[in-house]
Amino acid sequence: MLKFALAGNPNSGKTTLFNGLTGSTAHVGNWPGVTVDKREGVYKKCAEPIAIVDLPGIYSLSPYTPEEVIARNYVLDEKPDCIINIVDATNLERNLYLSTQLLEIDVPVVIALNMIDAVERAGDKLDEKALEEKLGVPVVRISALKETGIKQLMDVAYKASKSPRKGSTALKDTALSHLIGDVKIALDGQGVKNPLFHAVKLIEGDEIEVAMHKDTLKMVEEFKKTFTDDVFGTDFEALIADARYKYISKNFDSVLSKKNKGSMKMTKSDKADKVLTHKIWGIPIFLVILFAIFHLTFSEDFLYLGAIFGLPSLEELGVDTETFGGQLLACFYDGAVFSPGVIINNIWNEIIVGNVLGWIKTGVESIGMAEWAVGLLNDGVIEGVGAVLSFLPPILVLFLFFSILEDSGYMARIAFILDRMFRKFGLSGRAFLPMIMGFGCSVPAMINTRTLADDKERAATIRVIPFFSCGAKLPILTAVAGAIVAAFGIGNADVITFSMYLIGIVAAIVSVLLMRNTSLKGDTPPFIMELPSYHAPQFKNLMAHLWDKTKHFVKKAFTIILASTIIIWVLTHFSFNWTFLADEEINQSILAQVSMFVQPLFTPLGFGSQLGEFGWVFVVAAVAGLIAKENVIATFSTLAACLVAVASLNVEGLDIEAEEGIDAVRAMITATGITVPALLSFIAFNMTTIPCFAAVGTAKAELNDNKLYKGTLLFWIVASYVVGAMVFTIGTWWWTAFIWAAVIAIVCYVIVTINKRSAAKKA
Ligand code: GDP
Ligand code: MG
Repeated sequence: MLKFALAGNPNSGKTTLFNGLTGSTAHVGNWPGVTVDKREGVYKKCAEPIAIVDLPGIYSLSPYTPEEVIARNYVLDEKPDCIINIVDATNLERNLYLSTQLLEIDVPVVIALNMIDAVERAGDKLDEKALEEKLGVPVVRISALKETGIKQLMDVAYKASKSPRKGSTALKDTALSHLIGDVKIALDGQGVKNPLFHAVKLIEGDEIEVAMHKDTLKMVEEFKKTFTDDVFGTDFEALIADARYKYISKNFDSVLSKKNKGSMKMTKSDKADKVLTHKIWGIPIFLVILFAIFHLTFSEDFLYLGAIFGLPSLEELGVDTETFGGQLLACFYDGAVFSPGVIINNIWNEIIVGNVLGWIKTGVESIGMAEWAVGLLNDGVIEGVGAVLSFLPPILVLFLFFSILEDSGYMARIAFILDRMFRKFGLSGRAFLPMIMGFGCSVPAMINTRTLADDKERAATIRVIPFFSCGAKLPILTAVAGAIVAAFGIGNADVITFSMYLIGIVAAIVSVLLMRNTSLKGDTPPFIMELPSYHAPQFKNLMAHLWDKTKHFVKKAFTIILASTIIIWVLTHFSFNWTFLADEEINQSILAQVSMFVQPLFTPLGFGSQLGEFGWVFVVAAVAGLIAKENVIATFSTLAACLVAVASLNVEGLDIEAEEGIDAVRAMITATGITVPALLSFIAFNMTTIPCFAAVGTAKAELNDNKLYKGTLLFWIVASYVVGAMVFTIGTWWWTAFIWAAVIAIVCYVIVTINKRSAAKKA
């Protein structure tokens, strides 16, 4: 099959084009460096099928970071039949820098002049024929986003792939051309493929080349001795870079004629940035936006209208919530208008899931199976999986908002603001982007750390990524927050979830700063990411994100979560000598016996020995969470039926039959008497402890240093213990805040002093 590679600068639209060509739904993010591994798909609308490879974005073919190495090796070693070089037309000069290098390779190249829609919108003119003439390869105007020019691009590329092409260099009219010519002939004589490309890189002194062509290097060094430049002396890397840029500005200045040439008119993006990235207001604005998102997703009192106007409840209005109409109305309003997230959630759970699960359960009971089988299916499997599925709406709504922030270009600004604040202390803005991706799922976020050049910074980032609460942890937050509101009648679910997210973010920042000043010291590389311009989020992109999320979540519910609930149910319904236990005898079960043994360990966190004989359920849930975080709530739901039976709980309004995650947590609260601070500590513990299996595996693979990996596991255990204990003690005895503050101050002081001393010693 023919193979075309998409190569270009970060954020030039490669993935958007890739998705358009192959019909896939790869992640498109509005900041540089979202694609860090190559990805393949097939384009079927040419005479023969063509494999399309989406490469990570690169600024040049001299690699520094792991992702850049992937891209370079691909174009050199895998011999694509054609390279489609995507060029962001709104940033022509900088993008052509890479093009001049790609053109040195002996491979057909086609330039896709992307973002033509943006160029036209600005009223600028682009002469692609002139570009084509000067570069000597076909140039096609496209908009990956609006999907214009795509078919034409592929036809041109298909044709180009049929005739071989020899590399050409932008340096041919410079003083270096003789040197390049000679080295090229020498390499060609040795049978080296792509001799022109390697000749130029060798003269640049590129590390990889120098190691690869030791013999020819001697010759190059001899040549170099006879050559000095007035400006750059013998810095050939700078010399060549300069020559490329000169070539670009000399030949291509006239290609793009700007409408507002020279005028320093501020674009809309610049104006927005004046406010959104403001030195002082940047962070508060971010917090307000974040809170608004949680309010829209979780609040049962939209804009606090109910509290402000004292709106009547449905009962006071005389609405019968037993009727379907009443039930439907109750999804939108009850003493307060619900936020959009809650409304969607209610419709999903009250009307759809609640009824469907009810029918299935009745069906199971009517078949006439053995009692234990009915228990396993109804209380184990259906409760567990159903509880997890009930959290689909808040996850999707929250993700919709996060995707909007990301796609609009705002998240990249947050990285910029945080870089400004924390760079001095060893944390760069670049590292925040993978962390922010962690809100989706830790696995791709950890892979994304390949964009970081410094290994120690990478390790520190990987460690704190799980603190950015992922989609799977959301059910824990929602269920516990909901249960706190329902059982204790305090607070609002939006405030609780928002605060817990903040605790995660703060814990992450503090941990990175600690590590970067102690065990993982290192330089903070400069943050050279340009800020993408704001644009309205793309509906198609957003839907693609959500669809991916849904698929992933549902698939997990019916595989890992399903299997885990069965195991948990079995372990709670059999004793060590394998006799079947009734619900009431749960404390004799294998799981209970083992967990009770571990339970005291969690006493400082508030969910240990103080909870009495049923307290072990929290331990079980946390441990089940090591497989997948959704398991925490699935486990609660599986255990709830037993606890209700044994403690003969009679909680008003607790509908254990039509049970959701929230009611399961209420059952836990009533059975154990756990306090609010302990519940919050339980959330914090789960957020910061060892993440799920998949994330741990990814961390191991990405760290490729066993000592760092073991350190990472230890870090997670210690961090979660400390954060959990802090939340519990401060929540229970407010004055312990002073003790914690003092401890933190002392730790900081010691670190600063030690670092100062060692710095003085070095000097
Ligand atoms: P990559 O980093 O090269 O893979 O770039 P992406 O495909 O992730 O796109 C980066 C950003 O550019 C996203 O916000 C896209 O929506 C946007 N984008 C991509 N193609 C176009 C286009 O043709 N026109 C405009 N206006 N924006 C585009
Ligand atoms: Mg990409």
